[in-house]
Amino acid sequence: FLTINEVSKQFNNRENNIETVLNDVNLQVKEGEFVSILGPSGCGKSTLLSIVAGLTKQTSGELILQGKKINGPGKERGMVFQQAALFPWLTVEENVMFPLRKEMSKKEAKEKAHKYLSLVQLSPYTKHSPHELSGGMQQRVSIARALAMDPALLLMDEPFGALDEQTRSRLHEVLEKVFLETKKTILFVTHSIHEALKLSDRIVVMGTQPGRILDIIELDFPRPREQAREELLPYEE
Ligand code: ATP
Ligand code: MG
Repeated sequence: FLTINEVSKQFNNRENNIETVLNDVNLQVKEGEFVSILGPSGCGKSTLLSIVAGLTKQTSGELILQGKKINGPGKERGMVFQQAALFPWLTVEENVMFPLRKEMSKKEAKEKAHKYLSLVQLSPYTKHSPHELSGGMQQRVSIARALAMDPALLLMDEPFGALDEQTRSRLHEVLEKVFLETKKTILFVTHSIHEALKLSDRIVVMGTQPGRILDIIELDFPRPREQAREELLPYEE
């Protein structure tokens, strides 16, 4: 479904030296899989996700999604960032409708927006303004907005990183429901071992030196999560 093949990325850092952020990353993601990318700050998680999104160009290597080479952004990939980034002057439903308006009539866009807002349990808030919503609810709007475009692959970069523990748990429930009902393939970046263990089918562990994948841990249900937890202990920060 998604093949990341020998992908490397180099940046010029402040001293104008070349810094390798990703070094020959190889990864296969199957359709319908929930894959978490776990690793310390600066190991290149966001860079990898941004390359999959087509927002950043890799230095070398190639990415194939559904048989097609990734070259720039495309609507088969939806992205959710740490900050919800909603338009403050639009209502909740208008925020979700916004990217749809190029594709369909207003009526259809509205129906779609309501369908996905209902999935993230925000039906009572469609006419609200984003600032009337909590951070967790705003993040649910941005998930609905990404889903409404019907992407085959949902990319999430620490979507719950800015939220408190209780809100996070709530959002985990919402995301699990979304995953079950929409059967999306999800690539999910997180700092949290707990979150990765709770949500994913597979955990990709990245390390800083030299920007490579260190380990890929399968969480084949009903394999005890405690066992996987032990495998992850060496990577605890
Ligand atoms: P975090 O967990 O803190 O979000 P991360 O794993 O997502 O970290 P990245 O944001 O991918 O890490 O950054 C990896 C490295 O690449 C860092 O050293 C960062 O300084 C560097 N980097 C990222 N983007 C750029 C850029 N546009 N120009 C130069 N260097 C960059
Ligand atoms: Mg990041």
